[in-house]
Amino acid sequence: MTTASATSGASSTSQLHFPDGAPRVGDTYATLEVAMDTLIQFEESRGNKLVIGQSKKDSAGMYCKVIMHCQSYQKHKTVHDMKIDPSDQRQSKSIRFECYAHYNLNWVGASEMFTLTTVVHDHTHGRNLAVGAKAPCPVPLEVKKFIQKYANKPSFSHSQIKSMLSNNFPEQELTSSQITNIMNEACSQSKRDVQELGGDFAAIIQSLQEKVANGEPWNYHLKIEETTGTVTLLWWQSPEQAALTHRYPDILVNDCAANCNHYNYPLNIGIIIDNFGNSQNAWYALQAQEDLETYRWVLQCHLQAAGEPSEVIASD
Ligand SMILES: [Zn+2]
Repeated sequence: MTTASATSGASSTSQLHFPDGAPRVGDTYATLEVAMDTLIQFEESRGNKLVIGQSKKDSAGMYCKVIMHCQSYQKHKTVHDMKIDPSDQRQSKSIRFECYAHYNLNWVGASEMFTLTTVVHDHTHGRNLAVGAKAPCPVPLEVKKFIQKYANKPSFSHSQIKSMLSNNFPEQELTSSQITNIMNEACSQSKRDVQELGGDFAAIIQSLQEKVANGEPWNYHLKIEETTGTVTLLWWQSPEQAALTHRYPDILVNDCAANCNHYNYPLNIGIIIDNFGNSQNAWYALQAQEDLETYRWVLQCHLQAAGEPSEVIASD
């Protein structure tokens, strides 16, 4: 054991004694992963498990601050959404020891380096890892991004993502709960992103605008009610759908699925029939009303995309 000396410029060092090899305020690491790995291994050698606490990202979505804290960190109460949502419920943790051991990592602001700005490694309890047990390894960012990419797609289940991981990253051993946690965090993040953008419609419109700005020929039209600023109609098609609509203008099948979303905006789907007799979804429209004016507007969008009127329109 060595005695801690005050470190100039330190944000906080609260410990009375420094265990051998303990990370110190001012220590820098080449990357966030290296920093987390070092801290986890140090605490693991003392029988304690570290988990990722609060983190902050910059405007580019990169981590600029990460708090790693003891698994038995301070008690807190979580209030859940009344609706059952696993990504919300999973945030609950029952923590018994009110331990304040934690490490704050801050991005240095150049390259990918991170530095320790706070070190509190006094625990209020004994080991929280069984002797010989290992804390799960931190998940490399590349693997995390891979999971996040599929977490928001409803067609991918936990077990599918797990098997894709073992194909793509055979060296990486992840526990099921690590995968679940990353999936839930990704779902919560996308919900927060949508809320920050002003709701689903604003998020969809922003995404379409970005695609067009990046040169992707997505096609969309918006109808906005002037007095309230409410979107009453959103019509869109992907570049592939735009090409199909232009190429096969003869037949349009039009069907409206009512009230399948929580805004009660019917989803209107335009389907074309290609040269091989296959039906292909050509566009979608979310519309507040199902009146003549709305259908006229939707069909005008189709006409504009097809370039000529359809010979046949089929609808119920
Ligand atoms: Zn602790």
